[in-house]
Amino acid sequence: MRGFEYYKPKTVKEAIELMVSLENAKFIAGGTDIMVLIRQKKISPQSVVSLRNIPELAEIDTKDGLRIGSCVTHNDIDKNEYIKKYYSALTDATSQLGSRQIRNVATIGGNICNAAPSADTACPLLVLDAKAVIIGQDSSREVDLDEFFLGPGKTVLSRGEILKEFIMPRFNENTGSSYIKHTRREAMDLPILGVATRITISITSGNEVRCRDMFCTIDSISNILERLKDEGLRCEDVRIAMGVVAPRPIRAKKAEAALKGKIVTPELFEEIGEIAASEAQPRDSVRGEAWYRREMIKVLVKRSLAKSMDRVIRPDEAIYPERLW
Ligand SMILES: Cc1cc2nc3c(=O)[nH]c(=O)nc-3n(C[C@H](O)[C@H](O)[C@H](O)COP(=O)(O)OP(=O)(O)OC[C@H]3O[C@@H](n4cnc5c(N)ncnc54)[C@H](O)[C@@H]3O)c2cc1C
Repeated sequence: MRGFEYYKPKTVKEAIELMVSLENAKFIAGGTDIMVLIRQKKISPQSVVSLRNIPELAEIDTKDGLRIGSCVTHNDIDKNEYIKKYYSALTDATSQLGSRQIRNVATIGGNICNAAPSADTACPLLVLDAKAVIIGQDSSREVDLDEFFLGPGKTVLSRGEILKEFIMPRFNENTGSSYIKHTRREAMDLPILGVATRITISITSGNEVRCRDMFCTIDSISNILERLKDEGLRCEDVRIAMGVVAPRPIRAKKAEAALKGKIVTPELFEEIGEIAASEAQPRDSVRGEAWYRREMIKVLVKRSLAKSMDRVIRPDEAIYPERLW
């Protein structure tokens, strides 16, 4: 491995100035992606500019919606009870990303800037309507995450620009979200497929859902949805995102449009899974074949939607029957 100069700026401004002035330099946050590339000699920067000594990049702010600095680690997100309760899809991802050692140093910003189609936090951030705040030498802009990825390893960031933070809105109280990572094994692995959903359902006050406890069972998703049918729950708003099914993480916008405003039924969820699968362009890879990914989208979209609904219907439930999902 070739040596490189290592810089430790203390402010965002200083980091940007360094990046603009240095030849062949790269930002480094946790280093869990970039160090692998350097060791494999896929890149050989002359200088590396660390973002880990800039306090404002490591902040989580929950005052008005959610702000997460780009250098917040996956473990910090995982420990945050507010995020777990109101932005559950994100915690579903960070709790399963890599190993504990990786989660202790790897950052959410690095996961997104690396722009791998398999990045675990991408789908949750997409369904949580995240915007990326980007700071340049003389500019600052907010970009919808949906427009941030340009392809594998490619983003809208230009030279010298830093991803400062993600901002997410506060959602209506009848909102739940979830992320399901489908892997070959339980232990550390990248996903064959990742699906995230967020749903807001209308529950008029005084008309509490009768079958609140149905999710406590280990009944099949189909049976649970069949019983939910009688509740007349309407989907007010929905987001569906999929990873490892295209060159970049994508939203299933046709499926979202087909569900929004409708009364939830098992047949409708089945249809939504089919539509989402038709929007994907999966390919064969060492982790799974295209046909298998397409089939599993149908299953996981249905499951993730049910899991998101569970989180609306039983908001105080600390333990979810993981076996079910
Ligand atoms: C053993 C192992 C297991 C892993 N398992 C998973 C997994 O299960 N799921 C998964 O999604 N990933 C996994 N990864 C990949 C990696 O850990 C994550 O993508 C991680 O979040 C990257 O964050 P980082 O801070 O280490 O990024 P770094 O390696 O520091 O940076 C990654 C890239 O982003 C750029 N960058 C970083 N921060 C910024 C910023 N604020 N502004 C502009 N550019 C920036 C860097 O220049 C670099 O190009 C794994 C990696 C390893 C080594």
